[in-house]
Amino acid sequence: MNGITIALSKGRIFEETLPLLAAAGIVPAEDPETSRKLILPTNRPGVSLVLVRASDVPTYVQWGAADLGVAGKDVLLEHGGEGLYQPVDLGIARCRMAVATKRGYDWAGNVQRGARIRVATKYVTIAREFFAGKGMHVDLIKLYGSMELAPLSGLADAIVDLVSTGNTLKANDLVEVETIMPITSRLIANPGSLKLKRDVVKPLVDALAAAAPAMAAAT
Ligand code: AMP
Repeated sequence: MNGITIALSKGRIFEETLPLLAAAGIVPAEDPETSRKLILPTNRPGVSLVLVRASDVPTYVQWGAADLGVAGKDVLLEHGGEGLYQPVDLGIARCRMAVATKRGYDWAGNVQRGARIRVATKYVTIAREFFAGKGMHVDLIKLYGSMELAPLSGLADAIVDLVSTGNTLKANDLVEVETIMPITSRLIANPGSLKLKRDVVKPLVDALAAAAPAMAAAT
């Protein structure tokens, strides 16, 4: 009952959350890159980490299977954020949501003409709101991965995807034509946990919040 569980996804979020957890005195007892365990104990008795898919982090926290989690703003907007507190923008896993097309595609011209544009994306909620806000009618095509392939294969005219360095776009001869929003990862909390386990959860949220701005400034 007094133990707490933090949901994280492998990769960039896990790597960038580790220094924040360390600043809060929490260190995983095993390296997730070499361990196949999905539940990682830590040096703090009663604090464990669960490793789940990035898009499943809000679900674990919403249903209380995890007390806290770290999820990108992209994932939270697509999830809807019901039943979650988002107490801290950790400033990590920084990137942006953008529209990209094949190099040479006349994006501005097609938008101006009101052409029917096909857009492939994993982020249909964000894309729908963005294009609606611009008064554009687009056909949204839901994909689950390899979005860069969509304009190259003729599936779509454009994609909405996360861009960090821009290397993936460049490697696939795509160019960013619109920036939708900056994206960072947030600490999310189960509201019940914040109440019922306040004595453990609140100091941890505060410690992570205190560590976050320094980390954000350093990146
Ligand atoms: P980059 O080549 O550095 O621009 O990275 C772009 C690729 O990495 C795309 O496939 C994105 O979906 C993915 N990506 C970039 N940043 C993030 C992030 N913060 N979270 C999840 N995926 C990301």
